[in-house]
Amino acid sequence: MLNDTTQIFPEIREAVRRLCARFPGAYWRALDRERQYPTEFVTALTEAGFLSVLIPEEYGGSGLGLAAGAAVLEEIHRAGCNGGACHAQMYTMGTLLAHGSPAQKQMYLPKVASGELRLQAFGVTEPDAGTDTTRIATFARREGDHYVVSGKKLWISRAEHSDLMVLLCRTTARADAAKPSDGMSVLLVDMREAVGNGLTIRPVRTMINHATTELFFEDLRVPVANLIGEEGQGFRYILSGMNAERILIASECIGDAKFFIDRASAYAKERQVFGRPIGENQGVQFPIARAYVQMTAASHMVDRAAALFEAGQPCGTEANMAKLAASEASWYAADMCVQTHGGFGFAEEYDIERKFRETRLYQVAPISTNLILSHVATHVLDLPKSF
Ligand SMILES: Cc1cc2nc3c(=O)[nH]c(=O)nc-3n(C[C@H](O)[C@H](O)[C@H](O)COP(=O)(O)OP(=O)(O)OC[C@H]3O[C@@H](n4cnc5c(N)ncnc54)[C@H](O)[C@@H]3O)c2cc1C
Repeated sequence: MLNDTTQIFPEIREAVRRLCARFPGAYWRALDRERQYPTEFVTALTEAGFLSVLIPEEYGGSGLGLAAGAAVLEEIHRAGCNGGACHAQMYTMGTLLAHGSPAQKQMYLPKVASGELRLQAFGVTEPDAGTDTTRIATFARREGDHYVVSGKKLWISRAEHSDLMVLLCRTTARADAAKPSDGMSVLLVDMREAVGNGLTIRPVRTMINHATTELFFEDLRVPVANLIGEEGQGFRYILSGMNAERILIASECIGDAKFFIDRASAYAKERQVFGRPIGENQGVQFPIARAYVQMTAASHMVDRAAALFEAGQPCGTEANMAKLAASEASWYAADMCVQTHGGFGFAEEYDIERKFRETRLYQVAPISTNLILSHVATHVLDLPKSF
């Protein structure tokens, strides 16, 4: 194991490690094979209170800051587990917390904090809009005290395992809005009522076990009382929640990178070829050392972004850069770990090929690398915009 004496939240980290030890590789491999949801793992995290660390105490959470949430997710990933099944239960409520009415917060947040309600579906992406969110076409038409929603969404993860979904849709057509980013609204959809009454969920099988789905809306009725904030301002609300998501997912990448570095270091010391440990060869040790350097640099960026977020300072650029650096560090470490293990890197029982597949996601979702580079190029370096 790496020496992490400088890390904050040692008690939380230790408690997460103890919990994760109950869910070893064999547990994840069995689920991965069948693409099944890790219900027992998610229940254990919920009962231990780890998914409600960001919810203020007045609503039943522990009211800790983003860095505590990052520590939880990092340790989950470092242990070889996967927080993707439930990380959104931690942060999706941020939209409600920041922009919901007092009545909405009182109605939902205590139940999200206790785990009675799962608010871990986040419906933004659409097949025809891709990264250009202003092109979403799912439309909510006002009819009396309801919105009537039609359209489709793609890659909406955990929809089958959520009681509530934060849904971004258009309430004014793009062509009729003053700006492309105007005219979108956020609705809180009660999945328990919606499925079979205008909402159909179709699972999408992917290279990782991520419970992701496609959603079809056909005249789904959502009470106007479930509108979050003001109509037409939804894009702004969703953007404000994305910084937390990026920082937390970056921390999962740091955990993944540590997992790969731990495994590669241990194996390089123990595996004997040509009568000596393979780790005696600099050709084997240098990639491990490089992975450590990259992970450490990215980890400082994650800490910096989390500190700015907690201080209420603008942190969009830092959150994006941290996510880019951490996802590249984890991918480099994954590739290094496979190489260090030779043929065994491909064997399911080592868990490395599974984690290798899982960590690849983070260069695409929740935002792809190119879009982060574009942000840095145009917003930080003032280069000309390409779109
Ligand atoms: C497993 C999984 C889970 C997901 N979960 C969710 C979820 O729960 N909720 C949700 O709303 N979404 C979810 N997503 C969607 C995810 O956020 C998007 O896949 C991601 O943002 C990229 O969008 P896209 O797939 O539409 O790619 P596209 O926008 O089609 O882009 C394709 C490629 O082209 C590049 N590209 C596009 N435009 C430009 C440009 N102008 N300049 C340079 N490069 C460009 C992109 O970087 C990308 O590499 C998930 C995706 C996956 C795969």
